[in-house]
Amino acid sequence: MASRSAVVIGASMGGLLAARALTEAYDRVTLVDRDLMPADAASRRGVPQGRQLHVLLTRGRQALEELLPGVSAELTGLGVPTVDLHEQVHWYNDGHRMRRAPSPLLAYGVSRPLLEQVVRARVAAQPGMTVVPACEAVGLTATPDGRRVTGVRLHPRDGEPVTLAADLVVDAGGRGTRSPVWLAELGYRPAPEERVQVGVTYLTRTYRRAPHHLEGLLGALTNAMPGQPRGGIVAVQEGDRFAVALSGMLGEEPPADDEGMIAFADTLAAPQIAELLRSAEPASAPATMRFPASVRRRYERLRRFPAGYLVVADALCSFNPVYGQGMTVAALEALLLRRLVTGGPERLARRFFRGAARLIDGPWSISVGTDLRFREVTGRRTPRVRLVNAYVNRLHAAATRDPALGAAFLRVLNLVDPPARLLAPPVLSRVLVGSRAARPSAS
Ligand SMILES: Cc1cc2nc3c(=O)[nH]c(=O)nc-3n(C[C@H](O)[C@H](O)[C@H](O)COP(=O)(O)OP(=O)(O)OC[C@H]3O[C@@H](n4cnc5c(N)ncnc54)[C@H](O)[C@@H]3O)c2cc1C
Repeated sequence: MASRSAVVIGASMGGLLAARALTEAYDRVTLVDRDLMPADAASRRGVPQGRQLHVLLTRGRQALEELLPGVSAELTGLGVPTVDLHEQVHWYNDGHRMRRAPSPLLAYGVSRPLLEQVVRARVAAQPGMTVVPACEAVGLTATPDGRRVTGVRLHPRDGEPVTLAADLVVDAGGRGTRSPVWLAELGYRPAPEERVQVGVTYLTRTYRRAPHHLEGLLGALTNAMPGQPRGGIVAVQEGDRFAVALSGMLGEEPPADDEGMIAFADTLAAPQIAELLRSAEPASAPATMRFPASVRRRYERLRRFPAGYLVVADALCSFNPVYGQGMTVAALEALLLRRLVTGGPERLARRFFRGAARLIDGPWSISVGTDLRFREVTGRRTPRVRLVNAYVNRLHAAATRDPALGAAFLRVLNLVDPPARLLAPPVLSRVLVGSRAARPSAS
């Protein structure tokens, strides 16, 4: 077979993992990013969310290891703690404190810049891989009939515009994806779009960790719920730190000063968060970021789409960040891509977008379904959505006593099990029995 080449636009988590997948089938993979790549684990302009607390779900952790064997051990070697999400985290769901229990649901306690740096170094070391920083993709090239993308037009920061030919171009440019514009220039209709306005404001600040903080546990989480559109997460990180994220939905905004943060945290169901803010020494300045809407682009529904082109990760679907799904879905898409490209390039876009839609359905239904509990969020409230939300609330009440229910919920939240598993008879019967007896409890 002739030598084949691919270009990936965007060297953040989505683009890095897609590029890794492509090295299985393409002799040369070029990863371009408009940013300079920092030598150390620093946040950068093109990934403003890098300063915010990121949790990699258990399924994402597994997928990352499948794509980059040895990455878990490397992170551990760099001082990244491993967290048992059921045993070592104070969980409050809809105000109910989940009973803790040992579990195989593991997460890394890692900052987003360090995770990206480790992944980038591993991906850059793959045979045939070239990373080109400070280089912006400004358009596509295509055959005269526009049916096949043939490459990408690049604008290096310190040079003349160039065209890079490729058999496959992948857009991993994130939420600011230019694909809708570029595809329109080639004569394609826009993909149908689902947009759910959630008006989330996120604020993250890191603190030095002492052993007594959080009663010796490694995290805490309390979710937003109707009537209380505020949430908070504490997650351990490398360097003996805790990252604390406060979030507000639907226009609710956490303040960025010490007193305001503590007052905000005092209104949360998890008392551990305000206690930590009162006693721990800050290690960074607070960083605030707004996330207006979850957006899903349904490329699988287009009848015409050019060969030689794909859209992945946040450019395809970006989720309300409070559910921590983006990097995991990006990793699962990369696994799908790896499987498909090793089978050959025929009808790749159709096969990829269909497969990606199937794997996005679960996490999208979790995040959008949960957001629809808020009256102000517009979307289709089917009887199923209402029923599932009422049922999950009862599950949380019962999980204060029954660790099997906490485990079932966390497996779904971590994308290890599909959402339907929560309605399976063994879970259902425990919810019905347990929620009658439930009352607030300590774990
Ligand atoms: C506040 C917040 C918190 C989050 N928390 C979590 C979490 O806890 N867990 C989780 O899994 N996910 C979380 N996410 C989502 C997560 O950050 C993304 O899903 C993940 O980074 C994958 O995104 P991506 O690679 O597709 O795009 P991005 O991370 O947005 O990166 C896009 C990249 O493309 C480059 N680029 C863009 N356009 C061009 C161009 N034309 N030419 C060249 N380069 C270009 C940019 O410089 C950048 O490097 C959060 C998101 C936000 C906003």
